[in-house]
Amino acid sequence: MVYRHVLEWPNETLKKVSRDLDIEKDINITKDLLDTFKVTGGFGLSAPQIGFNVRAIVINESALNDCESFQKELLMINPVILKKEENASFEEACFSVPGYSFDIERSSKVKVEWLNLAGEKERRWFNNYSSACVQHEIDHLNGILIIDKLSQLRKSMIIKKIKKDKLSKIKQLGLSKEEKSKRKSIKTRKNNRKNRKKNKK
Ligand SMILES: [Zn+2]
Repeated sequence: MVYRHVLEWPNETLKKVSRDLDIEKDINITKDLLDTFKVTGGFGLSAPQIGFNVRAIVINESALNDCESFQKELLMINPVILKKEENASFEEACFSVPGYSFDIERSSKVKVEWLNLAGEKERRWFNNYSSACVQHEIDHLNGILIIDKLSQLRKSMIIKKIKKDKLSKIKQLGLSKEEKSKRKSIKTRKNNRKNRKKNKK
């Protein structure tokens, strides 16, 4: 069992167009993808998110359809959208853009063809949220994230916000004990100075 860390924006791997997966050569990537998905949970995950630019995605149909008979981990190798029908807006989140969700306009029905692990072709229609999920994961294979689906203005606002959040997280985590005590002593010195000034008055 190999759990891989899920990459977050702005990691470069997430921005690349992935190559086709070779079932024989890249079998370990499919294993890592399934293993990681068991840990992360959620509706779907793609190979680029765990660091591999190959065309493989996994979706949790049982969660999406709220129905036991659907597969919990449906692995789709080299998926291709054959047909798209009707449009709807779906609220989507992404492990690679944690803490955000956006309403994204997509087709509410897609016909998809892919290979299973045995190398056999499978073909099926996906509806509603399953359709959105498959399109979201295939977007990852083309280097597209949900923030890329937003208007230019909205995207730049969100990117600013993400950068700010990341910076404050780094600041919080990055302050070593030594630095913290240094800051404290500076503060104390400043306060002492203030007090001295006050006393003078
Ligand atoms: Zn995603």
